[in-house]
Amino acid sequence: MKDRGVDESIRPGRLAEFIGHNDLRANLEVFIAAARERGRALDHTLFYGNPGLGKTTLARIMASELGVNLISSSGPVLERGGDLAAILTNLGRDDILFIDEIHRMPASVEEILYPAMEDFKIDLIIGQGPGARSVKIDLEPFTLVGATTRLGLLTSPLRDRFGCVFRLDFYSPEEISRIVRRAARILDIELSEEGAAVIGRRSRGTPRIANRLLRRVRDFAVVHGRDLVDQDMAEMALERLDVDPFGLDQMDRKILSLVINQFGGGPVGVKTLAVACSEEVRTIEDIYEPFLIQCGLLKRTPRGRVATAKAYQHLKNASESGDSLL
Ligand code: ADP
Repeated sequence: MKDRGVDESIRPGRLAEFIGHNDLRANLEVFIAAARERGRALDHTLFYGNPGLGKTTLARIMASELGVNLISSSGPVLERGGDLAAILTNLGRDDILFIDEIHRMPASVEEILYPAMEDFKIDLIIGQGPGARSVKIDLEPFTLVGATTRLGLLTSPLRDRFGCVFRLDFYSPEEISRIVRRAARILDIELSEEGAAVIGRRSRGTPRIANRLLRRVRDFAVVHGRDLVDQDMAEMALERLDVDPFGLDQMDRKILSLVINQFGGGPVGVKTLAVACSEEVRTIEDIYEPFLIQCGLLKRTPRGRVATAKAYQHLKNASESGDSLL
């Protein structure tokens, strides 16, 4: 099975299978039950948080708990107003429209969304020039579920139209180890509790990374002729994959090392940093930086990124243990 097929097989399908974020889960349960009771579409819902923390999974769970269709799209794909209008007019009663990366939707498309979210109507302009006329089209009541990695990039008129806004944070190592134990059961991988704990600590608090590491660790176990992924096996494999005990990978360490060695510890602007490590600014901001900040290794200041004392210590330990930093 290709990795994407595997991803789908381990994605939780019901709210009860969704691990962690207990408060969010409990609230969502109430809103879903209330919508069911009232026989009305659920309020528009926004999930925000880093990639791989479960936003898409929650949108799918909402649809399956409510027994409605889920139609998926994403901000960058919706280039013209007509693209969105076509999707909206095809929605069935109470369906869920999921828009990933909703902050990347063009302004002209976003404007169509406002009356659709508020009154379940859209205004379409037919024709061009003096003969153009506007036509109002009624839509079926629906729920918009938006996902974004950057809440700050959402315009406030759009943000204000969501009735429920949920933030997804990094998971604790214990929660991640429960997530990989569940995935291991589904994928028929024998994983000891200690092995799961090692993956739990080194997955940057992110289920998608944890599930990926689990599969790679399993590959090492298979090649070494071992049926069980225990602590030793997990540690050995993660070392080979260049994931350190903090869960930092090569790129994380490269970023820290550049800030410290090339830019005197900072402050350094994110654009300069991105050029220095040949990455896109968005990748640094969305994927690497939040975790480095969460670990207390990097600080964001108005003048740029600054390495903390903990970062110096971490790199020193890594170089003493012979890890390559670049
Ligand atoms: P996002 O949309 O935030 O980028 P996804 O919803 O696609 O993230 O989640 C990535 C993967 O992580 C999914 O395939 C799913 O298997 C797993 N996952 C995410 N959150 C959880 C969770 N709370 N419990 C179990 N597995 C999870």
